[in-house]
Amino acid sequence: MYRPAVLCLVAVFAVVTAATVKRHPVTVVVSFDGFRPDYIRPDVTPHMAQFRDASAAPPYMRSAFPTKTFVNHFTMATGLNPETHGVLDNTMFDSHNETMHYTYEQFHYDDSVVPIWIQNENNGEGRHSGVMMWPGSEFPYQGKTPTYIEVYNNSIHWNSRIDTIMSWIENENQPANLVFAYFEEPDRTGHKKGVGSQEIQNQILRVDGTVKYILEQLKYKNLEEKINLIILSDHGMETVTYDRMIFLDDYVSNMTYKSVITGPNAFILPNTGKFDEVYTNLSSGANTSKTFYVFKKKELPDRWHMKNNPRLNGIIYLLSKPSHAFWYSFYQNILDKTTKEMFRTGTHGYDNDDPLMHALFMVSGPMFKKNFTAQPFDNVDLYPLISHLLTLDETANYARPVNGTIAGVEQLLLSPKSSSAGTSSSSSPHVLAGILATFIDALKKYQ
Ligand SMILES: [Zn+2]
Repeated sequence: MYRPAVLCLVAVFAVVTAATVKRHPVTVVVSFDGFRPDYIRPDVTPHMAQFRDASAAPPYMRSAFPTKTFVNHFTMATGLNPETHGVLDNTMFDSHNETMHYTYEQFHYDDSVVPIWIQNENNGEGRHSGVMMWPGSEFPYQGKTPTYIEVYNNSIHWNSRIDTIMSWIENENQPANLVFAYFEEPDRTGHKKGVGSQEIQNQILRVDGTVKYILEQLKYKNLEEKINLIILSDHGMETVTYDRMIFLDDYVSNMTYKSVITGPNAFILPNTGKFDEVYTNLSSGANTSKTFYVFKKKELPDRWHMKNNPRLNGIIYLLSKPSHAFWYSFYQNILDKTTKEMFRTGTHGYDNDDPLMHALFMVSGPMFKKNFTAQPFDNVDLYPLISHLLTLDETANYARPVNGTIAGVEQLLLSPKSSSAGTSSSSSPHVLAGILATFIDALKKYQ
């Protein structure tokens, strides 16, 4: 009695699935916060190890600087460098020199900045985006939000999040052809317990189990060869002990400045008339302790693509050396529950050239090479890659030139974009437009 009904359901499902994936190529991007590429080991994370070996994957992906969560998720979503999209840390000064953390203002430095999940829908023709907890996704951009959105809520079971994503892709009327999904571990536990802890190991196992569940669902729904699945992270993680903590009070009076400290990174805003005094004291402290670097805005290295942003005006920027960090309330909360000897915290935000800050990337799907070890690339290049997968119109009037280029990532593709277009990617109009836009942005901000 049940059999006809089951067959009927299967038949309907097959039709829906076929229609869904036929109309537009489907791309799913899954981020596991703070997952270091070297966490993958065949004996510990067998499903991720198998996926990586069968897919196209570099040994690591270069994060944007600072190697922080909001900075990197927004860089990947917009294809823009931090100085262009304006998210310069998870917590930073707002326009009134007050602290802001995950606010509309933080993600709206420039209203022309639009994440790819909005651009996907701007391209029309039945394109729909679904975004699951990706940092920055709950804010509208140019007044628009994606068709499907789930705001950050760490109490929602991970498999349930996967089930929701599948329902977006399989929706009969508005199937999602682009999904961005965020998972908060192993970063959260890494911060509290450090890299070598049993607690973070448990979260790494949880991530592997979730990857297994995603792959099982795709197989069960016969979508394995129809969906381009990108599994990545935003940055790495490093352990810091109490003896590596930097106390700014040792070098400069806290009556002479305001600060936003986020671990290895610090924005220092000297009081009126105190800039030179604070800078001199901090520079002297850096020279004697050799534990951190001090930068005026114009001294920040060009390769960080951070300095040309007015949000740093009047700021002295500090970066600690590897395995060091600036003491702030988060660390005090950890110390309150332990001793100085037992104190272990995980952190990130260091130089994006630091190997421990590197991020994970692996991709499998019909448009990608299999069993392919790629060269490392920058995560700002993901936008042009995904734009290519989704066949977005890069010349449309709503498209914004980006800083990322296809050049670093087309090595992953079965059919490189440049050869299919009959032109070299390094000289494509899109790339030149991006370079020109960056140059114009820089000029505007210096005026
Ligand atoms: Zn993160």
